[in-house]
Amino acid sequence: MTSTTTASNEISSTDGGSKPNESQPGSMSAVMVTEFNGPIVVEHGVSIPDPGTNKLLVKITASSLCMSDVAGYVGHVGAPLPYCPGHEPVGVVTAVGTSVRGFRVGDRVGFMPASGTCGDCPECISGNHRYCSEKVSIGFNGPYGGFSEYCLADPASTAKIPEGLKDEHAAPLLCAGVTAYGALKKASHYQTGGTLINVIGVGGVGHLVVMYAKAMGFRVHAFDIAEDKLRLGKDCGADEVYNCLDAAAITEKCAQSPSTIVVSGAQAAYDLGINLTRRRGRVIAIGVPPKPISLDVLGLILKEKSLITTNQGTKQELIEALEIADTAGIAPIVELKKGLEEVAQGYQDLSTGKVVGRYVYRFAK
Ligand SMILES: [Zn+2]
Ligand SMILES: [Zn+2]
Repeated sequence: MTSTTTASNEISSTDGGSKPNESQPGSMSAVMVTEFNGPIVVEHGVSIPDPGTNKLLVKITASSLCMSDVAGYVGHVGAPLPYCPGHEPVGVVTAVGTSVRGFRVGDRVGFMPASGTCGDCPECISGNHRYCSEKVSIGFNGPYGGFSEYCLADPASTAKIPEGLKDEHAAPLLCAGVTAYGALKKASHYQTGGTLINVIGVGGVGHLVVMYAKAMGFRVHAFDIAEDKLRLGKDCGADEVYNCLDAAAITEKCAQSPSTIVVSGAQAAYDLGINLTRRRGRVIAIGVPPKPISLDVLGLILKEKSLITTNQGTKQELIEALEIADTAGIAPIVELKKGLEEVAQGYQDLSTGKVVGRYVYRFAK
């Protein structure tokens, strides 16, 4: 038996029953997407899951909102309905599956979406279990996503949070951070510290690309069309920032970068990214265009430029991203939100470009 509070996607949900932390024993509250572009619901009385043999039960303390959540909500991910969104959760382990090794009750952890992977296929063995054919994505499938009070974590996707990292700073690193770091790791196969990286789009992921790039010793030029995002880029350590709309300011020297990381999904961002990359350099794609865009393949061929893609990262890369954040003092720019009832409004703010950095929802410990 469950009760719900419902919010349209235009307003945050209102109190219509028990508050999230007033759930009955053995039950909890969870945000649910019940239809694409429809109401975002806070459902109460949801059963707290059992970790069984091979999962961790995690009481979530912080969970952040990602552009991929919006992509799921509008139906671009093909998530089976209904589902509980949220794939950047941090929390404390409260129960450990009987066959799980390496984690204990009380561990502070964060986890990536891939769950239920086989552990035995070439992708799993190589650390790329996010491509396992048996994968289920937490936050895009089923009733236990990051915007709930408890969640089941797959140990294969779970990392312990370094002591120096706050929950609200660790949460965005579980997707945005590891994605940013994964892109830079690809760039670092071709160039060393001290060389230039261009970053186009300084939003939730882009500002972390700037921070990690600086921590890894690169020079950074950051590009955006919004002045507040350019200020964010500067605050995150970008050596120079440029407004993409100011064509006169973007000169030849900007186009000397061996790698350009495109975090925006706009056609213009990819066009600019190709132009800003030097001969034999590479454009690294993170930004997801809302619909297919065109690509100047001849322009790429004539200067032997490459377009490569990156998609989150391995568990090892997540561990590295968390360690670097801890040692280099990387603290994502976050705006703290109270809890599940505020999540619906966050979707609207993120889809209308109002979010600078990351919204992080904090739950009681
Ligand atoms: Zn597998
Ligand atoms: Zn994400």
